[in-house]
Amino acid sequence: MHDLTIVGAGPVGSYLASLCAKKIGVTVLEEDSEAGKKSCSGLVSPRLMEMLPQAVKKSGLVEHMVKGAIIHFMGKEFEFRKSGTAAYVLDRDALDKRLADYALSKGAEIRYGEKALSVSFSRDCASVKTARHVFESKMLAGCDGARSVVSRSLGSKPNEVLNGIIAYTDVSDNSDNVEMWFDKSLVKDGFFWKIPRGDQTEFGCIGHALSFPVLKKFFSLDDKVISGRSASPVPVGIAKTYADRTILVGDAACQTKPWSGGGITYGMIAAKCAAETICKASEKGKFDGFYEYESLWKEKLYEDIRAGIMMREFYKDLELKALGSIMDRIESMKHKGDDIDFDFPVSSIMKMGGFLL
Ligand SMILES: Cc1cc2nc3c(=O)[nH]c(=O)nc-3n(C[C@H](O)[C@H](O)[C@H](O)COP(=O)(O)OP(=O)(O)OC[C@H]3O[C@@H](n4cnc5c(N)ncnc54)[C@H](O)[C@@H]3O)c2cc1C
Repeated sequence: MHDLTIVGAGPVGSYLASLCAKKIGVTVLEEDSEAGKKSCSGLVSPRLMEMLPQAVKKSGLVEHMVKGAIIHFMGKEFEFRKSGTAAYVLDRDALDKRLADYALSKGAEIRYGEKALSVSFSRDCASVKTARHVFESKMLAGCDGARSVVSRSLGSKPNEVLNGIIAYTDVSDNSDNVEMWFDKSLVKDGFFWKIPRGDQTEFGCIGHALSFPVLKKFFSLDDKVISGRSASPVPVGIAKTYADRTILVGDAACQTKPWSGGGITYGMIAAKCAAETICKASEKGKFDGFYEYESLWKEKLYEDIRAGIMMREFYKDLELKALGSIMDRIESMKHKGDDIDFDFPVSSIMKMGGFLL
């Protein structure tokens, strides 16, 4: 019997596999024929870059770097700039492939083309059924993203699921700001963005009930200039993330920023907590309840996820005039761009004596 089966070779599953494979036997099941091809901007903080192994960071991963963000709201511009790099624009495909290779190099096995269809539990093991096999293991980690089969088997689900949509053009953009537009008449609970990718420009939006035509219309994008497009669900909320023998990590556990939907950094932070709990359980031979994992990740991420969810509700319900005066108060802090932690935006703004207080 395997020690640990991980469902999903996304960045979170592969990272978790690399951390655990140093100590225990790990098999990763991935439904696709290779890692990568996910709809994602790959915009990550310097904190994520510090977490990545050197082998993953080698050249070709970073497409561009930005120093800050410009927010457009009700005809005004609010600029937040860092003195150093605020965020890296990564080649998401390369990130996934390199993390999968890294997991292999640490001794994990990755079985491509194995889609988990159902999960069941007995006294001695967790079983994952695919079309061709049944994989039995002492422990199971669900890293299978927004449509997680493993989380469904635990009865865990997101509070809400947003749409994230991206379109690329081959127009080069080397500016050093990400731009965001908030327009409640088009997206009640989300925003539009433009990300400079060096050789390309990315346009995107996140929120409920969004579609490509809305994105195209907002940026006046003609089909002829669009060189690529993709979309994926973004789970938001606070979900149950453990059961006996089982742990959920990453999008499968709703470990995303409720505002932007960004989940790579949160998922990888949680993967470290998961690895600690899993390796300890393996040493002790005790798999009954991984509550320790939930305490560990919540200590690091819960405050910002909870505050972000509150902010989303607040934004959805607030009248434009009231939002305008809040943005004016944020503007008065714009010289403090260095104090904003883009991974933990809500709590860092609140700590600055922010606009909610
Ligand atoms: C449009 C868009 C833009 C985004 N931009 C950013 C960004 O700029 N920065 C950021 O941090 N985050 C961003 N995100 C979010 C980010 O993509 C996710 O948070 C991240 O991919 C989560 O990683 P994961 O490994 O948990 O899940 P995933 O990346 O979804 O990986 C899950 C893996 O599991 C596999 N899988 C799924 N089901 C099964 C099954 N039944 N059996 C076997 N394998 C299975 C999938 O094929 C996949 O390989 C964006 C999301 C969207 C939609």
